[in-house]
Amino acid sequence: MPPSHLARSDGIDWTITWIKLAASGVSLTLLVIVAAFALSQYRNGDRQTAVAKCFALANLFVFVYVSADAAVRLDALLGSLDGTLDKIRLALGAVPLATIAYIHLFWVVAARGRPIRGRIVALYAVGCTTALLLWVEHPALFIASDQLFRQDLSVFPDYAALAPAYFGLIFILAAVVIRLIIVSPLRRTDRNGWRLSMLGFAALLLAGAHDSLRELGVYLLPTSTLSLGFVLFQLSAFAFLALHYARTLREGQQQREALRRMTQMLRRDPVTGLFNKTHLQELLDAQPKSAAGGLLFIDLDNFKTINDRYGHLCGDAVINALATALRDQLRSEDLPCRWGGDEFLVYLPGASIDDVSKLAERLRVTVSATVFEGAPDLAPSMSMGYAPLRDDGWRRALSRADAALYTSKRRGRDRLTIASPETREQPAVAMDAAY
Ligand code: GH3
Ligand code: MG
Repeated sequence: MPPSHLARSDGIDWTITWIKLAASGVSLTLLVIVAAFALSQYRNGDRQTAVAKCFALANLFVFVYVSADAAVRLDALLGSLDGTLDKIRLALGAVPLATIAYIHLFWVVAARGRPIRGRIVALYAVGCTTALLLWVEHPALFIASDQLFRQDLSVFPDYAALAPAYFGLIFILAAVVIRLIIVSPLRRTDRNGWRLSMLGFAALLLAGAHDSLRELGVYLLPTSTLSLGFVLFQLSAFAFLALHYARTLREGQQQREALRRMTQMLRRDPVTGLFNKTHLQELLDAQPKSAAGGLLFIDLDNFKTINDRYGHLCGDAVINALATALRDQLRSEDLPCRWGGDEFLVYLPGASIDDVSKLAERLRVTVSATVFEGAPDLAPSMSMGYAPLRDDGWRRALSRADAALYTSKRRGRDRLTIASPETREQPAVAMDAAY
């Protein structure tokens, strides 16, 4: 951590060695955390904001470390060492806090909505206490006093008691993370994200190991590398998070698509592909009270007999023939639905009586002219009732259309009856169409 220019030139500087070893331990902790994070694999989208916050916090602490370390180096270059000890304290304090922020990040992802606030507060309390202890002016504490600094960072016995404590904290953090991995039910992995995290931590560990070796007198590179390691780690963590978000986004899109398809299925009749009763009711409910047009109610004639005589498959074919005729003959704004069984209901917005009469005739002719396999003599017919909408709502109009349909049946089937303007719901006043 503190650059080696602060080390005594006449031998091994144990101060810096312990600090670097501690930093390596933190790197190891971070490695375990991100490995656990990669293994945990994303749960669902609603915790994404919390994930982003933890990640930003962790990066902030890493930045504090890297920038304080750079400031220490600058101090040394400029020869102004006033306040350098404070920068060292700042940097060292940022390391456990960054570790805790990464643990927090992992917990948020792995918790799946379970409350974790208590554990998080306790962890941050430990981190903040550790960071604050670095500022206590007492020779028994780690980097505790100016005296330590003034004595050229060489009073190892004065702060040796704190170095194990510092390691102890790191081991506790590691134990927490390992427990998370073991206890965690998360076993599905994102291979790319996992590899990226491993790369970032490998860079951090290598840098920590390199700097520790420097303090032991083995100079592989001309400068310390921990800051660079932290930056590489940050980059890999960013790429990892980008993958996480891309994946979450993709999963969200897939879920929306599945939902759209399910909604479609819920709205459609599976045999004919027309809207079902529920959906047409919803659409009619959404119409303004003043909507013009009317409802055409259709019921196949003697359909039970068709089923009995030609079989249910032929019955299905007749139902589909009527559905096809409806699709072919209707305007794009018309809304046909299979009301149920052999009944169909069509909402014809803005249609005149003349339009409806012509439409009914075309439907009647088309369906009866359809040739059905295995039933060459079958010419299905249907009865229809039409009721224009009034200002009393579509349900009343449906009741009038039903009554008109009943009149068609009563009058010999295979025809359209239009409810007269005077028609209340029951009974319908039949008005045979022109055919
Ligand atoms: P009416 O002229 O008075 O309407 O006589 P109908 O025989 O058509 O009587 P109704 O409309 O009450 O009969 C409907 C029949 O439609 C009853 C049921 O067995 C049959 N059905 C309902 N859904 C289906 C289906 O999906 N496929 C087939 N093949 N038959 C169906
Ligand atoms: Mg029928």
